[in-house]
Amino acid sequence: MAIQRTFSIIKPDGTKRNLTGAVNAVIEAAGLRIVAQKRILMTRAQAETFYAVHAARPFFGELCEFMTSGPVVVQVLEAENAIAKYREVMGATNPANAADGTIRKLFALSVGENTVHGSDAPETAAIEIAQFFAGNEIVG
Ligand code: GDP
Repeated sequence: MAIQRTFSIIKPDGTKRNLTGAVNAVIEAAGLRIVAQKRILMTRAQAETFYAVHAARPFFGELCEFMTSGPVVVQVLEAENAIAKYREVMGATNPANAADGTIRKLFALSVGENTVHGSDAPETAAIEIAQFFAGNEIVG
């Protein structure tokens, strides 16, 4: 498997509780390199575009409200098999189902306020990275 990039967000519940460093420590301990990172306040339009795939879901409004409720840290992570590796490190969407040692088991508050996002496939990773980073902001 070649070196791959994935897109990550530390969500507002994480930044509000001052967990950016703690989450990054888990990411780095798993062998993922943080090759781009910035702290931003997402606009409603950015959140709606980012989660457009969930537009028909009943929690879409709540999700966009949450993602714009405070700062987020957007990141590009690099490793062999980074997409699957980061999904494993994140743990299940609902922290009640997340495995021990995963970011969501350690830190998430609920299925909505679940501390991190990670891309689910190479196509979505490319789209998500391009939504938030210019090529020259990613330094591997
Ligand atoms: P992920 O890929 O593990 O992040 O999960 P999904 O793609 O299924 O969902 C995207 C995000 O929507 C999740 O990470 C949650 O923040 C949020 N979400 C999913 N299900 C629910 C729900 O039932 N209620 C609320 N409020 N948010 C949800």
